[in-house]
Amino acid sequence: MTKIFTNQGGFLELYSLTISDIRELLKRKEISVIDVVNAVYRRIDAVEDRIKAFITITKEKSLEMAESAQKNINNDNAYLCGVPLAIKDNICTKGILTTCGSKILYNFIPPYESTVTSRLTENGYVLIGKTNLDEFAMGSSTENSGFHTTKNPWDLERIPGGSSGGSAAAVAADECIAALGSDTGGSIRQPAALSGVVGFKTTYGRVSRYGLIAFASSLDQIGPITKNVRDSAILLNVISGHDELDSTSAPLTVSDYTRVLGQDIKGMKIGVPGEYFIEGMDKEVEKAVRDALKKLESLGAIPVEISLPHTGYAVATYYVLATSEASSNLARYDGVRYGLRIEGKDLMEMYMNTRSQGFGAEVKRRIMIGTYALSSGYYEAYYRKAQQVRTLIKKDFEDAFKEVDVILTPTSPTATFKIGEKTAEPLQMYISDIFTISVNLAGVPAISIPCGFTSNNLPIGLQLIGSHFDEESILKVAYAYEQSTEWHKRKPIL
Ligand code: GLN
Repeated sequence: MTKIFTNQGGFLELYSLTISDIRELLKRKEISVIDVVNAVYRRIDAVEDRIKAFITITKEKSLEMAESAQKNINNDNAYLCGVPLAIKDNICTKGILTTCGSKILYNFIPPYESTVTSRLTENGYVLIGKTNLDEFAMGSSTENSGFHTTKNPWDLERIPGGSSGGSAAAVAADECIAALGSDTGGSIRQPAALSGVVGFKTTYGRVSRYGLIAFASSLDQIGPITKNVRDSAILLNVISGHDELDSTSAPLTVSDYTRVLGQDIKGMKIGVPGEYFIEGMDKEVEKAVRDALKKLESLGAIPVEISLPHTGYAVATYYVLATSEASSNLARYDGVRYGLRIEGKDLMEMYMNTRSQGFGAEVKRRIMIGTYALSSGYYEAYYRKAQQVRTLIKKDFEDAFKEVDVILTPTSPTATFKIGEKTAEPLQMYISDIFTISVNLAGVPAISIPCGFTSNNLPIGLQLIGSHFDEESILKVAYAYEQSTEWHKRKPIL
């Protein structure tokens, strides 16, 4: 069986359902795990050649995992038992190709499992495949992938956002029930916004980074990309929490995030930072976000004008710090132990051949910028200065959260753009993360949820930011908004 009948007399395809729907049907024995997995593969067969969301599809593994999930189906604590999920290809999966979107890892099969996918496995999930990304998660469109560009399901001539564009497109196109992405400067939230789905980046330290291929270790976080807010809370329940294998993971207990869904938001204070409503942003985006604020007001929330005065320095600060960390993290790809190796007459030539042919242009650009910013004589002017500014940006948020419960902004200044539109001008691409980057620098959590469409039917995202380790307030407000609107129910026609 691959369809279910609704009480409105129509039918729904199983692949279009959410995690909570699927779990209900599985528990009531109305469907089996293999029904869901087959439905998802039928969908992939129908649309993947147009979307290109995946680098690897793991059909054999899915069938194995489906079989063991079916045996465990009555376990109430296994929220994900039998649920087909896609995983961004910078998250290590034992025995399964993990490329990080790079030719330098074209043959890398991790000998270990990341903590997040171990937790998903214990919970009974079914891996559908590994999704496309900008090489080493550096980019905002998936155009920097070493393999191919993913298409936006709402308009196949446009990008799905990035770097988790494969995950966002796969969720939007119903090629999986939900997915994991990673976010260093916006890579979960921006593609979620541009593809019309929900993306959550947690507080730095909330989710273990063990087994996430490092880009900028002080900024990277793994998080869910889902069809609605409830599914995001469900996935967070499984992946969050302390992990001994990641020394930066926070030793805090995690409560059940679904508990806050449906709670009243009356009296909650919503901060609106003037710095996030800027000259040059798309008028339709601005209107949708302002309308969302009015909607929240009608639900009893109180808007408060606030200021995050150092916002203007965020992009520059990020591109010094992220590139510095990347230049150091990426030194390990030398052709010696794993990944690509291009021989040369001696060791030095082998290094040079491997790295110059293995890395793409954007990755090389960043290694060069980062190496420069860390080099003696420039370190004080760039890297150290950027660290100081980062502290000020963090303090902006701490001050703001003395007055408000959450902060509301657009996720991205524009809706999705055309393939090729920004590839010639890296700065144009960098600017598309202007509203998401400060959140990573400060380490605070934030979600992007659908809040409208442009006149040419392209999705618009709303960002809600919370204070450190207060994922609950974000989920509460996001859920209240989602339940009073219909945006999350629209699907692209494919
Ligand atoms: N687009 C930003 C960059 O290129 C952020 C990427 C990310 O969050 N991984 O660095």
